[in-house]
Amino acid sequence: MRDAVRYVLQVAYRGAVADERHRILSPIALRREVREWFYSHYDYARHHINPVCRAAVSMLRSYRRNHHGELRIPEVRRLAMRVDGELFRVMDGRIRMTLQPNRYVWLPVNASNKHYQEYSRGRASELLITNSKVCLTFVVGEGKKPLGDKLIAQDLNFKSVDSTSAGIGSGPALESVMTESLKKMVQVQDDFSRRRRALQKHVENPQKRAKKLEETRGRQRNRIKDALHKLSTRTARENPGASFVFEDLKGIRRTSREAKKSKRLRTYLNRWPYRLYQSMVEYKSPNRTVYVSPRGTSSECPVCGGKLEHPAWAVSRCGTCGADYDRDRLASLAILCRGLRLCGLTPFAVSADASWEQMRDEYSYPRSTPEAAGAGGTDAASAPNLDVYTKIHV
Ligand SMILES: [Zn+2]
Repeated sequence: MRDAVRYVLQVAYRGAVADERHRILSPIALRREVREWFYSHYDYARHHINPVCRAAVSMLRSYRRNHHGELRIPEVRRLAMRVDGELFRVMDGRIRMTLQPNRYVWLPVNASNKHYQEYSRGRASELLITNSKVCLTFVVGEGKKPLGDKLIAQDLNFKSVDSTSAGIGSGPALESVMTESLKKMVQVQDDFSRRRRALQKHVENPQKRAKKLEETRGRQRNRIKDALHKLSTRTARENPGASFVFEDLKGIRRTSREAKKSKRLRTYLNRWPYRLYQSMVEYKSPNRTVYVSPRGTSSECPVCGGKLEHPAWAVSRCGTCGADYDRDRLASLAILCRGLRLCGLTPFAVSADASWEQMRDEYSYPRSTPEAAGAGGTDAASAPNLDVYTKIHV
């Protein structure tokens, strides 16, 4: 593994140098680059490539972090190997590790470790093998958080967070929908990209420019992180009894078809660290957080199952319902429905539910509420973060 990491580090380094913004490839992108090499050099099960790529990426990243943004290939000294959870199993006091499909190595488990009884109830997550020992790691506390007494589904957008909540105590019923503006954060992002463009134009010394740009980027990251902390703390604190439902956004950068269409949109998708926000809410919330598949949340009508069209970006039109809906709000409803299903709370037919009748105006486009009239709102300067908040059905 050490040799493999050394080679993969070189590929990752070359990739980062070749990239105009010196970004380090993600482990998954890196795997695509080196898979042919790995498979032809190592006669192991293919999964073994994953920890190699992850190790290379994290080493490169931490090197850069510890050397003020300077990028070089760090030296790989340690003789160590990580094995993903898919490649081993703990069976009758032994670890079975897969070398190739149907070829295993068996290792004895030292069950007398004082934490073993407690930890081994969790899911075995990773095996770390060094020249002197084998460490077996477990995920503890997983799934221990209880489900809340209501679900709040959040659709994360460039400029807003849209939430639909539903009580689940006595059968699911929609409770409220709200749109929270992220104007402040968008503003920070825009300020910084303007600053970067100015630097690119006016600082001529390339080294000085790179340094300045990196500084700006760091400051921007901190500002955004800070804002996300505040937002997630408030969200979790205001809803102590709720479980949050999010879209599982792994791979959104690659799969989002919209992202390919427009460069502007792509920058937005990359800039707004959705997943950071999700994980912040997840650990701040006392209840379990639910992740649902994002596939089709904007193409299938959660009310009737019909096909959605988007005559304008902000509109979801359903021919079957014969209605125009607010795209982001409807998406949060779709996420909610998936969350309910995932929690085993079926069937919940939105169109047949009494709560939908009371709520449906809140989802229609354009919304009848005055603030919503011009989706961009010009009362920005003094407006509070909350655009609209409705609560019925209590
Ligand atoms: Zn419909």
